[in-house]
Amino acid sequence: MNSSLCVMKFGGTSVGDADCIRRSAAIVKAAADQRPVVAVVSAMSGVTNRLIDGARRAELGERDFLHPLISGLRTQHLTALRALTSDPRKYAEVQNTIEEVLGELERLLQGTALLSELTPRALDAISGVGERLSAPLVSAALCELGARSVPVSATDIIVTDIHHGHAEPLMVETRKRAETHLRPLLRDGVVPVVTGFIGATLDGVQTTLGRGGSDYSATILGAALDAQETVIWTDVDGVKSADPRLVPEARTIAEISYTEAAELAYFGAKVLHPNTLRPVTAAGVPVWIRNSFSPEKPGTRITSRGKSNGGGVKALTAIRDVTMINVGGPGIVGRTDVLARSFAAAAAVRANVLLVTQSSSQNDICFIIPTAEEKRTVQALRDAFAPELAEQTVEHVSANSSVAIVAVVGENMQGIPGIAGKTFAALGREGINIIAIAQGSSEYNISLVIDAAATQKAVTTLHKEFRLHEASPATAEATSVGKQSPEGVSAAGPAGTRK
Ligand code: ASP
Ligand code: MG
Repeated sequence: MNSSLCVMKFGGTSVGDADCIRRSAAIVKAAADQRPVVAVVSAMSGVTNRLIDGARRAELGERDFLHPLISGLRTQHLTALRALTSDPRKYAEVQNTIEEVLGELERLLQGTALLSELTPRALDAISGVGERLSAPLVSAALCELGARSVPVSATDIIVTDIHHGHAEPLMVETRKRAETHLRPLLRDGVVPVVTGFIGATLDGVQTTLGRGGSDYSATILGAALDAQETVIWTDVDGVKSADPRLVPEARTIAEISYTEAAELAYFGAKVLHPNTLRPVTAAGVPVWIRNSFSPEKPGTRITSRGKSNGGGVKALTAIRDVTMINVGGPGIVGRTDVLARSFAAAAAVRANVLLVTQSSSQNDICFIIPTAEEKRTVQALRDAFAPELAEQTVEHVSANSSVAIVAVVGENMQGIPGIAGKTFAALGREGINIIAIAQGSSEYNISLVIDAAATQKAVTTLHKEFRLHEASPATAEATSVGKQSPEGVSAAGPAGTRK
């Protein structure tokens, strides 16, 4: 009975206004006519940012933003609701929900301003409001199309640990809740529209799964319900062979493995929340990335095996806005604690280390972090090595923010010799200097640090070198339909731009 179940997630832009919601609801309705469907929705685009901004201002004791924020949210959601439902009873019912949620938001922000203190718990309660406002709208739109649908709060279903801001699901408990709360609805032919992004602890304290976490909500539910597949409906055509803003001839990849997709997600891809594939990888539930604005396009399918394109390399990513930190000097040669102390210092300030290299001479440790984290990381390192810096044993802790990482990704690169050679030869031919190199022993990824100014040239060169613009037979269809999405963020959005 579970086998045909589909979980469909709609991101912020796919529910950005009444027209988008109607388009998304039509996609759900068409699917729900054929099979059981669970919909998962993000907040309307931009809403989560506004909520977090409000929380920060309340923390400063400000109150003047409160009225404009709340009345703005009210107008936005009621305007959409009015356009989406012709049934006055439905309108009144959803309006009630919206007022209740906004009332709660106002109390949370007032309390925060009163105390001038924003606890992680309050921030989660505030930032998760957008999904509680959008889910009833999407459900109302479905009812308008003749489907039976109810909004469902994920706080009743997705049980998490208490890590506010980046909570992790407790799957056993979540499975039980999904069985008791969602399965009966599905059996009755009702489409539950579940709030993305949020969950709650066993004690009922609301948490969030991290920014962009609605993707994760969808795969958590896909795994919990043993879905046949999970579809992430977004505003891009799928996973691309490179960022189309850098490489216009980049194409949509028809099929990719969990490992490759995760590799791309970790390397700055804007397509998926980095944890998204975790719940479904073990269960082998396929995940689709599809464009809700062009539902006729096939999108990208993510499966355990992916599909070989023959050449080994599947995609390229480029991460800009990164900084290379060097800790080095002859004084550290042979010392066994420099790595541990460097990373402990970086971890203490929550720097996200994207790449690490150390030559066997141990003369120099190099790692890359997002530029936004540079200041505090450098400070932490200087503090950690203060004694050595004073004695000049560690000659330097230096930072260079005019670098970029280009990564060559593909599961089938494993055991294919020559890919690194081809990469270096192609870049050498173009006069692009490679500052540092890292390759994981899994061989799914070769990462190069280059001068940021050469990013576009490097990616274009490698895209050509590995013939990624040539559609393999499996992907021909993916590129021949319609136009590419203009923004088309890919495998390779810049780091940190994820919504
Ligand atoms: N609304 C949340 C965010 O903007 C979750 C999501 O969009 O997936 O981060
Ligand atoms: Mg979003």
